[in-house]
Amino acid sequence: MFQVNENYLKLPGSYLFSTIGKKVKAYSEANPDKTIIRLGIGDVTQPLAPAIIEAMHKAVDEMGRAETFHGYAPDLGYEFLRTTIAKQDYQDRGCHIEADEIFISDGAKSDCGNMQEVFAADSCIAVCDPVYPVYVDSNVMAGRTGEYDETTGTWSNVIYMPCTAENGFAPKLPEETPDLIYLCVPNNPTGTTLTRDQLKVWVDYANKVGAVILYDAAYEAYIAQEDVPHSIFEIEGARTCAIEFRSFSKNAGFTGVRLGFAVVPKDLKCGDVMVHSLWARRHGTKFNGAPYIIQKAAMAVYSQEGKAQIQEQVAYYMRNARVIYDGLKVAGYEVYGGVNAPYIWLKVPEGMTSWDFFDYLLEKAGVVGTPGSGFGPSGEGYFRLTAFGTYENTVAALERIRGL
Ligand SMILES: *Cc1c(COP(=O)(O)O)cnc(C)c1O
Repeated sequence: MFQVNENYLKLPGSYLFSTIGKKVKAYSEANPDKTIIRLGIGDVTQPLAPAIIEAMHKAVDEMGRAETFHGYAPDLGYEFLRTTIAKQDYQDRGCHIEADEIFISDGAKSDCGNMQEVFAADSCIAVCDPVYPVYVDSNVMAGRTGEYDETTGTWSNVIYMPCTAENGFAPKLPEETPDLIYLCVPNNPTGTTLTRDQLKVWVDYANKVGAVILYDAAYEAYIAQEDVPHSIFEIEGARTCAIEFRSFSKNAGFTGVRLGFAVVPKDLKCGDVMVHSLWARRHGTKFNGAPYIIQKAAMAVYSQEGKAQIQEQVAYYMRNARVIYDGLKVAGYEVYGGVNAPYIWLKVPEGMTSWDFFDYLLEKAGVVGTPGSGFGPSGEGYFRLTAFGTYENTVAALERIRGL
C-alpha cells in the first residue's frame, strides 16, 4: 500500500486568499451597486511590451520551419540568453558572474522552491518575517521545519528574523546559526530593501559561519535608490556564500509567460563539492525549463527598444505606488515601502488587527488589500497594498481612503 509524503500534511491550509475571496464575494453580493477596487493583487496587469510580442512572433515562425526548428532547450538555457544576462545584469554592474553560472528556468518560484533539495535534509533555515511564503512551504514539504504551532503561526525548526518598523525592516543577524538564509530584497510584502553596507554584513556573516544566502531579487527592476544593490554579487565575498534568484515576472510582465533564472557561482562549495554541479542535476532540466520561444522573448527584454518599453511599465506601477504612499500619508497612516518596490506596507490603526483593517477597508471604502498576518507572524498589525492596479483605480481608491 502506498504512503503519501506526510510532510505535505503538515502544511497549514492557505486560508489567506480564499478568505479574501469569500469576504469580497459576500460584500459584492450585499452591495451590488458598489464598485470594488482591488489593490491586493500580486500580479502584473499591463500587457507585454511590443518588442517582446514581436520577438515571440518571430520565434514562433522559426519553430514552424525545419531549418530553424528547436527541440529540447539546453540544460542551462540558450547561450544567447545566458551571455546577455551575464553581461547586462552582472558584468556591466561590476559583478563577476559568468554565463555558465546562470541557469534559465520557468520562473523564480520553482527555483526558490527547488533549491533546498541540493542541501542536507537536516539543514536549518532562517527567513525574514514577514515574507513570500514559498521559502518556508518548500522546506515544510522537505520535512525540515519541525512542528507547527497554531497559536504563534511558527515552525519549531525555523529561525524567524522579524522585520518590523522597530528595526527599520532590516533583519538582525540570528542568535542561532542557520545553514540556509533566505533574503528577499526588495521584500515582498514590506517593499523595503537593504543597502550595500547592510547586505555586506550578511555576506560576511554567511562566510564566517558557513551558511548560504538564498537571495530573491524578483523586484530588482523596481530599485530606485543608489545605495541599494541590484544583485548580491555586487557585494565582495558573495561568490562563496550566495545564490541569487531572478524573475522576469514582475520586471517585464512575464507572470503568464514564465521565465526566471538562478545564479549559482562556481566558488560556492561544500568541501570539494560545487553546489553548481548539484544544481545542474536538478529536477526539470530540459523538460520543464523555458521554451525557445520564451527565451527569445526574454532577449527582447535586453534590447534597447525592449528596455525602454519595460522601464515605462515599471514607471507606470511606481507612479501608482507614489499615489498610494502619498495618499496614505495624507490620510494619516504610518507608511513603508513603495520606493524600491511595487508594494506599500502600512501600519494598521491602533487597536485593530490586520483582518479588522481588511474588513474596515472593504466595508467602508470598497478597497481590497492583503492582511499582513498572511505573510508571517510579524506581519500582524500591518497591511499590504500593491501598485499593480490601473492608475485610474489607484487614484480612485486613495480618494476613498482619504475620505474615511
Ligand atoms: C512573484 C514573486 C516571485 C515569483 O516569480 P515567478 O518567476 O513568477 O515564479 C518570486 N519571488 C517573489 C518574492 C515574488 O513576489
